[in-house]
Amino acid sequence: MKLVRYGEAGSEKPGMIDADGRLHDLSAHVADISGDVLTDAGLAKLRAIDPFSLPLVDGEPRFGPCVGAIGKFMCIGLNYSDHAAETGAAIPEHPILFMKANSAIVGPNDTVVLPRGSTHSDWEVELGVVIGETAKYVSEEDALNYVAGYCVINDVSERHFQTGLTGQWTKGKSCDTFGPTGPWLVTRDEVPDPQALAMSLDVNGRRMQTGSTSTMIFSVAQIISHLSQMFTLHPGDVISTGTPPGVGMGMKPPVYLKPGDVMELAIDGLGRQRQAVEMDA
Ligand code: ZN
Repeated sequence: MKLVRYGEAGSEKPGMIDADGRLHDLSAHVADISGDVLTDAGLAKLRAIDPFSLPLVDGEPRFGPCVGAIGKFMCIGLNYSDHAAETGAAIPEHPILFMKANSAIVGPNDTVVLPRGSTHSDWEVELGVVIGETAKYVSEEDALNYVAGYCVINDVSERHFQTGLTGQWTKGKSCDTFGPTGPWLVTRDEVPDPQALAMSLDVNGRRMQTGSTSTMIFSVAQIISHLSQMFTLHPGDVISTGTPPGVGMGMKPPVYLKPGDVMELAIDGLGRQRQAVEMDA
């Protein structure tokens, strides 16, 4: 299934995309794509619905983030061997974890607003993992059974805030609008191998990132298992699993976002995002 949230920011409705790519309203069945709706039992109820029996949504409404009421927004740093190399960083021994403030989360095609004075804002196409079942101390073998589904995430990053302002990476990762998520939550039954997904990101029509989840250092299963040894993962938590090569700071000379730029991202089977870039007033 492809589940979405559509409508104005803050009052999105749940929806389902049919096999022909059309949007149907799910709000007679669930209030939101969040929490218990994401469990195996919750998704089974939605799977029993024929999408063509649902009301068709007219026009082309805005898509919101594909998961509502996200609990924790966790990100894994330097998780692609080829990206670690371009940043000059050593291959990490354990998954690098940082948090992105939930207030950064926006829809897949919403405008990305650079914070005042930003000169080092950068892009990162990433595979997003949405937790569906409560997970604590899970094994790598079982880990993918705790996943509701997958989505595209742009882990937009202000590199000066991230490292130049010292402290935690969270500073540069949490700016408002720096977490476009969606367009769809694609349930895990439709993603048989999350480690075989091609991904790309263009800026102003120029290909910047080309990658595959096959070059992740820590697999989705390893990441879930590792995090669950330390704390509980809840339905509606999201993990952004790192970015392949081609970020702006890795270029020679580095290239950063400026007002007027347009980012376009895609991951195989998970859809596309498009964000215009503005500077905060
Ligand atoms: Zn990232």
